[in-house]
Amino acid sequence: MRSGLIRERMAQEEDEAISANVPDVSVVVPIRDEVESLPLLLEAIATTLSENHISYEIICVDDGSTDGSAEFLKTQAQSRSDLKAVILRRNYGQTAAMSAGFNYAVGKAIVTLDADLQNDPADIPMLLAKLDEGYDLVSGWRQKRQDGAVNRLLPSKIANWLIRRTTSVYIHDYGCSLKAYRSELVADMHLYGELHRFLPALAYIEGARITEMPVRHHARRFGRSKYGISRTFRVLMDLLTILFMKKFLTRPMHVFGLLGLTSMVLGLGIGIYLTFIKLAMGEMIGNRPLLILAVLLLVTGVQLFCFGLLAELLMRTYHESQGRPIYRVREVVTKKPN
Ligand code: UDP
Ligand code: MG
Repeated sequence: MRSGLIRERMAQEEDEAISANVPDVSVVVPIRDEVESLPLLLEAIATTLSENHISYEIICVDDGSTDGSAEFLKTQAQSRSDLKAVILRRNYGQTAAMSAGFNYAVGKAIVTLDADLQNDPADIPMLLAKLDEGYDLVSGWRQKRQDGAVNRLLPSKIANWLIRRTTSVYIHDYGCSLKAYRSELVADMHLYGELHRFLPALAYIEGARITEMPVRHHARRFGRSKYGISRTFRVLMDLLTILFMKKFLTRPMHVFGLLGLTSMVLGLGIGIYLTFIKLAMGEMIGNRPLLILAVLLLVTGVQLFCFGLLAELLMRTYHESQGRPIYRVREVVTKKPN
């Protein structure tokens, strides 16, 4: 009896010790060549969060900077306990840097923001308060965006419209890095390519409750943007991937099977028609474009069908090899024992 009680108390103490070490929020910052902004950024994050009595850790991920950002972060991290510096071996891109940050984050919530001071750390407490209302993801909305009109705002307007239409996540500004997540949600999302722009869409696939809040946005004070107009094409390609993931990840055969079957039936129909006029009417069919169409449709149909089967196999491997269930549970409620 007593040993049971002691064990229970020990377990309770252990839980308390663990939760004491879990900060309320991990702030994840991807960094490439932003050395001038860093001192101001760290200062701003630390001040806001301590003033609001929010326990925090800052995770700065250096993504192959060549301007001394990594060295600066290393010296800072050695002397302050609220900073973890994760230095990547080379430049992998913003998505990978964020993903690395997520892996080292232990906080109950995760906030991401840019290192260039365009996002304002003073908005973090507001986003966290919104999370507490029961959302899994709160996305920033740069209502008064401070970027060039032609090369930034216009493509971004079009991209936002397209993403909104295709992903069914109705927020205004997908490109804003300032976002807050519940950490369980982040653990479920897997990032590839440049999918950081589609985190709300990925979160939607995971069944998250998503909302947005207007946040401040400032013009870049130091350095320059790492992206130009060329990202438009990459965004479009990523959009296709996301669209596919959202619709067909668990049932590829429904798409490819249907397309394949339609194509085969059409091809077969034309083939039968041609056979009929050849045999019954004795017409030549060797020079008819319809014959080529029939063959093309049949071959394509078989290909699509087989592709669907392969995709089914791949999809099963994808889910089963990682132990990923095809559903996400928000909570389980049972009657507590008395
Ligand atoms: N960034 C990064 N790796 C890259 C490119 C960018 O970690 O390869 C970081 C960059 O330092 C910044 C954030 O990602 O903190 C967003 O980049 P940027 O401000 O250039 O993008 P913009 O705000 O112009 O869209
Ligand atoms: Mg920026």
